Amino acid sequence: MEERRERIVLQLPGGAVGIRRARCPNGCDLMDATAMIHDLPSIRVRYDVAGKGGIIHLDPLYGRFDNLGEGEIPAGAMVEFSCPSCSVSLRAPEGTCETCAGNLFAIHLPGGIVEGCLRRGCHYHRMTIVDDGSLMDRLFSEHGRDSYL
Ligand SMILES: [Zn+2]
Ligand SMILES: [Zn+2]
Repeated sequence: MEERRERIVLQLPGGAVGIRRARCPNGCDLMDATAMIHDLPSIRVRYDVAGKGGIIHLDPLYGRFDNLGEGEIPAGAMVEFSCPSCSVSLRAPEGTCETCAGNLFAIHLPGGIVEGCLRRGCHYHRMTIVDDGSLMDRLFSEHGRDSYL
């Protein structure tokens, strides 16, 4: 399905913005306050790689990669992410990594999507704003460590 929409890809300094409200495409809350990273609730997803699976906690600071639980994943391996609640795939419906051509995952925010590369060790990521601008307003009026999406 081709959507005609303005699209803004943001380049933000790593760690400047915290993700507080990440959801799967079906709307499940992915935030996990029982596993904190940088004093913020982490983003909890299921991973599968080469017949093995588990839970990984993603760094909620956009552009930082202090993830927990990825030690089992071999460097350079392509993984799949899914929602730990409803099992829907978190694979981005289109697009590939501009660094390594790997597949991307997508996490939904209120008014935007964060995508990242599914290859362990590749830190390619991008944010796309899809709402009417309220997310942009929030970003630029509250830019700093306490910003949230
Ligand atoms: Zn879900
Ligand atoms: Zn990549």
